[in-house]
Amino acid sequence: MRLIILYGGTFDPIHNGHLAVATAAQDAFRTDVIFLPAADPPHRPPASASSSQRAEMVELAISGHPGFSCDRRELRRAGPSYSLLSLREWRAETGPRQPIAWLIGMDSFLGLPGWHAWRELFELSHFIVVDRPGHGMQALPEALERVCAQRWTDEPERLEDAPAGRVLRLQMPLREESATMIRAGLAEEHGLRTDLPQAVSAYILRNRLYATGV
Ligand code: ATP
Repeated sequence: MRLIILYGGTFDPIHNGHLAVATAAQDAFRTDVIFLPAADPPHRPPASASSSQRAEMVELAISGHPGFSCDRRELRRAGPSYSLLSLREWRAETGPRQPIAWLIGMDSFLGLPGWHAWRELFELSHFIVVDRPGHGMQALPEALERVCAQRWTDEPERLEDAPAGRVLRLQMPLREESATMIRAGLAEEHGLRTDLPQAVSAYILRNRLYATGV
């Protein structure tokens, strides 16, 4: 069965690194990628643009890109944006046999044990993990290491022949972009940026986003 890839994030703002990661996953699995902007993530400080502005930027960034879409369910749901709740909903909507994968950067994956009911995530989806500069494999926290021990695979097909529970490291060139760095750069100099999709960069200037700091 064709894998469904969910790509959750704050996207504050969405940048070219996010798009490169989503494109690499799309190419590796020949399937669609669904961006899931978070409303109010419990495991990091509040975003500096509103959730609807962040979702709008995601939509601008992926507009015209075949196979990319944006799912606003976390913005509609009251309470914190637990990935677990979105995954439960996707699982309920697509059925117990549908392979689903959560696409995630290594920095976020290392913090997984801080996520709400994180062990249950492995019952609901696979993980596709992408390296990030400064975040290698060597430092998996012990609890995560234990949970992942029997789950690693290098073969994309293994994520298609089971609904959930496997972990694959997606190989792709490292991407330097970081939303935190981009916000800091915009606070210093509020101009067009080459590390953002053009439409997103223009939207930020039009709406004076991130002009006064992170
Ligand atoms: P910040 O720098 O503020 O933490 P971010 O750039 O990590 O933001 P998020 O919206 O938090 O952006 O990222 C969404 C997901 O994309 C996370 O799983 C994150 O690890 C991953 N990601 C973001 N940027 C990169 C990158 N340059 N390379 C690989 N993964 C990335």
